[in-house]
Amino acid sequence: MKEFDLIANYFATGGHQRKDVLIGIGDDAAVTKVPQGQLLASTTDTLVEGVHFLPGTPPEYIAHKAVACNLSDLAAMGAEPAWINLSLSIPKTDELWLSAFSNKLHELSEYFSFQLIGGDTVQGPLSITITAQGFVPEDNALTRGGAKAGDLIMVTGTLGDAGAGLDILLDKISVDPEASNYLTLRHWCPTPRILAGTTLRRIASSCIDISDGLLQDVGHLVEKSGTGALIHLDKLPISEHLGKNIDDLSTALKYAATAGDDYELLFTVSEEQRVHIETSLASYNIDVTCIGKMTGATGKIDIRLDEKPFDISTLASEGFEHFSEN
Ligand code: ADP
Ligand code: MG
Repeated sequence: MKEFDLIANYFATGGHQRKDVLIGIGDDAAVTKVPQGQLLASTTDTLVEGVHFLPGTPPEYIAHKAVACNLSDLAAMGAEPAWINLSLSIPKTDELWLSAFSNKLHELSEYFSFQLIGGDTVQGPLSITITAQGFVPEDNALTRGGAKAGDLIMVTGTLGDAGAGLDILLDKISVDPEASNYLTLRHWCPTPRILAGTTLRRIASSCIDISDGLLQDVGHLVEKSGTGALIHLDKLPISEHLGKNIDDLSTALKYAATAGDDYELLFTVSEEQRVHIETSLASYNIDVTCIGKMTGATGKIDIRLDEKPFDISTLASEGFEHFSEN
């Protein structure tokens, strides 16, 4: 199959069509219109086989993850998705693979109302680059900077599921079949928190999506906001499936505090906004948990377990046991 036919068969049609796309796939460049009063947010992420996903990962999961990690970046800015570009490097023309991959892409396009407006297709090692663009009203973009000492630190959803899911796929841990299904899906198909992001506009003082692991991403907020942070490990939201299968607390905490790829939103709000944000997110069935506070201790992240200072390095090493004796 020629590149032209491949694009026509799998990418040029299908998915959501938007009125703000004046010229889509098929010309030398797409031409689109940003509505008045809106700003354009743009982000790119590349997934390389063997680096960002395991060889043999089903194509629909690769498509899901490639879209989700980009949309999650838009969500963290408070933007709603509008358009994506797809740059695809594939080793060969595998019609089953392309069909499953493009079907999932079009399905997500319908669900999140974005349009695939262009891309590039080349032969090479399997790699997927998506550029996503979305709108945020002027002066409403959420950023990593802006948190103040005293602001509450909150997260959506649960933490550590994707990390545990990856370890299940790598045969490093084993859990019951239902949990295995849940956790591996959380690894493959994270939910971009678009609705949470748009709800947080003008309310959150800072926001980031958790892609590198909670503590690292808290570090980004602290750095950009010029604050410190106090994190209560015992408050981290852990899913029932993770909690009941990993009864060793330090291992569950290691996933929740340090594992990446959850794509939940981590944000800060003033004390006065707490109830407002909890109520708004609850109306969309989005769980939110307060896990700590920003402090004035610039650059310092104070980690506590049951109010006692906790040395996080004990989670990352093999020496968990001396912790579980506590
Ligand atoms: P050019 O040579 O001008 O870059 P191409 O032949 O690469 O154009 O692409 C033709 C059209 O198909 C363009 O509109 C391009 O954006 C689109 N396109 C190419 N690959 C993809 C893809 N994987 N997904 C979506 N659109 C694509
Ligand atoms: Mg051209």
